[in-house]
Formats: sequence, C-alpha cells, structure tokens
Amino acid sequence: MNQRLVRSAGSRAWALGLIVTGCLAAASLALAAQPAPALRAPSTASDPIGALLAQQEAQSPQKALPMVIGLKLGESAARSRFMVELSDPVDVRVFTLTSPNRVVIDMPEVLWRLPSEARPSGKGAVKSYRYGLFRKGNSRFVVELNTPVAVGKTQMLPPEGGSGFRLVVDLTATTAAEFLAHGGWPKDIPNAVAALDGAGTPQLAGRGGKRVIVVDAGHGGIDPGTHGQSGLVEKDLVLSVAKELKSALEATGHYRVQLTRDTDVFIPLRQRVNIARAAHGDLFVSLHADSNDHREVRGASVYTLSDDASDREAAKLAEKENMSDIIAGVDLTGENNPVASILIDLVQRDTINRSVRFAETVIGALPAVTMVRPSSPHRGAGFAVLKAPDVPAVLIELGYLTNTQDEQVMATEAWRKHVAQNIASSIDKHFSGELGLSPRQAASP
Ligand code: ZN
Repeated sequence: MNQRLVRSAGSRAWALGLIVTGCLAAASLALAAQPAPALRAPSTASDPIGALLAQQEAQSPQKALPMVIGLKLGESAARSRFMVELSDPVDVRVFTLTSPNRVVIDMPEVLWRLPSEARPSGKGAVKSYRYGLFRKGNSRFVVELNTPVAVGKTQMLPPEGGSGFRLVVDLTATTAAEFLAHGGWPKDIPNAVAALDGAGTPQLAGRGGKRVIVVDAGHGGIDPGTHGQSGLVEKDLVLSVAKELKSALEATGHYRVQLTRDTDVFIPLRQRVNIARAAHGDLFVSLHADSNDHREVRGASVYTLSDDASDREAAKLAEKENMSDIIAGVDLTGENNPVASILIDLVQRDTINRSVRFAETVIGALPAVTMVRPSSPHRGAGFAVLKAPDVPAVLIELGYLTNTQDEQVMATEAWRKHVAQNIASSIDKHFSGELGLSPRQAASP
C-alpha cells in the first residue's frame, strides 16, 4: 500500500494545501493532476507479449483509479471535520442539500479500500454517512446531518508521515436559514436526474419479436439497501439473483432481458422507470430484500403499485425503498407532478391489473422454492420504481435479511438459482395467459 502511495505521489503533480473557501454551496477543488505519460503501444510484430500487456492494461481501467484508503471523523462542539485519505489527489466538489439536510462530496470514480469505518458519536453535526459509486466516473460521499452546517474549508493535503493525500472538509455550525440559503444543486452542473438520464442508460435490448423483461436489482453503489448479520448486503444479493433470473429467462428463448444495472452502481429510481419504458418492457421485476425490527419475521412478499397502501407496514416499506434517491443525494426538484399522474391514470389502471395478476402468479409459485410470508404476501403501496404507466411491474422482497434463517438460505447459490428459475417459470405462465395479444396491445387499454 505504501509503495503504491510513494509511486503515486511521485507520478502526480499536486498543489500544497490548495484551499477553497467562499461559496459555501459549491466549493470546487481543482487539483491539477498531470496525466500519466501515455503508454506507447509496442508494435505487435516486434513485441507480441508487450502488445498483449498493453491491450490488457487498456481493458482494465480500474487499475488506474485512485483509492480511498482511510476515513477519520473529528468532532467537537463547534466543528466536525471529515477527513478522507486517498492514494492520489482528486478533484472534489462539495455542496449541501436539504430535506433531509446533507452534505454531498463528489469526486471522480475511486476504489474503496477502507480498512474500518469511523462511526459518528451522534453528538456532533454528522449523523451518518454513506459512500460508493454514484454513476460511472463519479463516486460520492453523502453525509447526513444532525444540525445545519456551513461547509467551511475544503483542503487537499499532501502525504505526510506515511499517510496518503488527505481531503479535509470542515463543517461548522450555522443557522437553518443560512443552510437553506446556501444549499442546493450547484448551478453549473445540470439537474442530477436529468444528467443521468442519457449518459447512464445502458444499451437497450432489442425486441426481435420476443417479450422484453426488465429485471431491476434494487439499490447499488452508494445505496447498499439493508444488510444481514453475517454481512450479506441487499444490493449484492439482489444483483446476483437478477443475473440468475436473466440467464433463466434467456435460456427459454422467449425473452430479451434488460437489467437496470449489472454492476455495483447507483441508479436513481426515475431512471430505472425510464429504462423500463425505453426498452418497451412487457414486464418490470424489481428485486429487493427486506428488514424488520422483529427478527422472527421471515419470508418473501410481492408488491404492486397502489395509491392506498394495503397496510401500515406496506406504506412504511414503500417509504423506505423510495428513500434510495435521497440516500444517494439526487436532486428531486420537479418530481411528482400531480398533473402528469392524472393524465396517465387510464393507461395505468390497465397496467396495474396486469401487475396484480402477475403478482398472484408469483405468490402462487414461490412457496415451492422458498418461504413466503404466511399472512397477506401480496400487498400494494406507492413504490416510485413501479410507476412506469405502461409497463406492468412488481417488486419482490425475497426475504428478510434481519432473519437468521432467511439470511442463511439467501446466502447460498442454490437458493438464488432456484428462486430465479421459479420466477422465470411464473413469467412464462403469465405470458402464456396473454397469448393471442401482441406484446404492445397487451400493455395498452
Ligand atoms: Zn430494497
């Protein structure tokens, strides 16, 4: 690790203690990192092995990514200091968002190699923090706050006494009015969701006469979802089931499958909906795992979109899953336009009927491979990710990571394969019931 640091420090130019203050809302730190000298590709004829190595180098850009190797939190009554240790200096942008109050620290894509995590005491301004990939090329810390703060001073300090580069962000107490006045998405970068809509959208699967199934692995990147006691994390579990489901569906030859993500990356909820619509999805299946304060609660359940939640627990769950964008620090300005929801009502009613029918098929089949919640396993609530008006959609909570038995089975590859196979069979059964209708007719009133 240290060797790498020394090498990195030598290969990059950095400016000592560049300090940016002033604009509290968007302090941007630009450290001129000199690009490494371009690798000259050896000619294949004279050096075939060298050419191969250069090719491999080009194919694994991860190697060149800076690493986050440490994190310290200094807390006092007047100031909280967030210190991030890095292998290389990076450009950083710090800004604040409200509802809930957060500080967002954006940086280029980095690798996370944190040996341990500094836990906030709860007494300072920092309530909690998350970090991860926000989108390709952009990693992010989101710091949730107990109290309003001013982003005082942002510095990138050079290596010293065996440490790496240190990014220091000071948060000092301020009034709610001041925080509000300086908060918000920086003006020189476009609305986060809008910016993500084009750039982050994966290549869409063509139809080719087949039904299109959009499989959505919940959470990802900076938003880990829930986790079990053994360390099993929702975002990883659901991604692996999503990949299994894709294979199972493709093996039938009846479907084209579009994954909303196939790596550990954050995708805003609205973008997941947009992916389903752009792919002309015939069905959208969002995969999640649940948590519950009562650790004995276990089993899978299936959710469809509904204005009125079927019960308090379903409403709370939807609220929790809808937090994804907030957790990741997405600008939600302009979301939830009530006029739009009236216009799409007619289409949506038919879509919801189809969603409910599919949910019942899944609930009927799942008990063959996994435990299903004994009481009301199919419920409705206002899940943002299920809101494509013309794509039938369900959200499957595969089980409870807070339940030891559920967590144990969900950790096994056999269970994931069986569950994926079972859901694929339900999809087959669902569409064989709609035979005679063209896919698009089937999804329109
Ligand atoms: Zn979830």
